[in-house]
Amino acid sequence: MKLLLIGLDGVRVDVALPQALTMHRGFEEPDHPTDPRFAAGERPAGAPTMPSPALSTATPAPTLARLLDGGCVLPVWMTPPTDSGPGWASLLTGTRHEENNVWWNEFVGHRLARTPDILSRIYFANPSARTFAASTWDALVDPSGPGPVFHQRVDQQVGGQHQLMKASDFSEGCRSADTQVRGHAAWVLNHEGPDAAFVYFEDVDEAGHQHGAASAEYREAITRVDEHVRHLVKAVSERYEQLDEEWLVAVVTDHGHKPEGGHGEDEVDVRRSFLLLHHIGPADVADDLRTRASGVPSLRSEEVTPLLLDLLGAQSGSWDPHHDVGRVRDVATVGPTRNLEYEW
Ligand SMILES: [Zn+2]
Repeated sequence: MKLLLIGLDGVRVDVALPQALTMHRGFEEPDHPTDPRFAAGERPAGAPTMPSPALSTATPAPTLARLLDGGCVLPVWMTPPTDSGPGWASLLTGTRHEENNVWWNEFVGHRLARTPDILSRIYFANPSARTFAASTWDALVDPSGPGPVFHQRVDQQVGGQHQLMKASDFSEGCRSADTQVRGHAAWVLNHEGPDAAFVYFEDVDEAGHQHGAASAEYREAITRVDEHVRHLVKAVSERYEQLDEEWLVAVVTDHGHKPEGGHGEDEVDVRRSFLLLHHIGPADVADDLRTRASGVPSLRSEEVTPLLLDLLGAQSGSWDPHHDVGRVRDVATVGPTRNLEYEW
């Protein structure tokens, strides 16, 4: 089974997939408390409220709704700060902020070299694996950006086993960049079928910042990004149709948005994320996946990567637990003891 993981930045599940909220009790409230350092401040006077769902009759995300039909959805509760950097670093590496040291979008002092991303974990599990990542946000894939979250693995890039693509067409902001990412990603997925792929879109987050989550523009951006998702799912679905390749399609977001726009703190609507899972392949395998996933309680962001690796059957190697792997220790510059037992 191959993996297509799609990252949609800043999508409120209650706007994109309101029906999901009634499908899992874990959506009701956060599963863990937050650090008071990242508590929400006062809302500005005159801030808008979210429109009633009854007023929004059209389905904003028909592809996500179709993926949920026959798939399943799990609540994911982000740990503040709910900025994109810490969110994606945690989601994509399976580590907490304290482990990867990504607290802001500047990534200053990050430890991502020690916290390999999900694609690298799959490569480590099997060095034959071919991996691919495409992103509108350079911090995820570009070594000259603030991250990157995805390891470069230059040797694998030379050998065509690992491909990284970043958007360059920002003539219409994230909207044009996302379209560029979609076109490239759909081609690679359809023709090359990498064993594991991550594709990221940013249009919704940009609309959230500019207009707020209560706006029509925010819903419209969700619809545009949903169409990108449809292209990617179509690309891998054709591979199942023609080549019998099975695919696990997963969709996740890093945070919601306030009605007036913005994120970063601990509001429930900002912390609430989701993991949408859909198996493309024989019906009995899809049933099995749904059964396995339905027993999963709500997730924290750092639990998404381990769950996906488990569903794929990718297992990492390990050291003797008594070996303090990675710890840096230096010898004291005290000169020899002259005990010949230590001299060679
Ligand atoms: Zn974000």
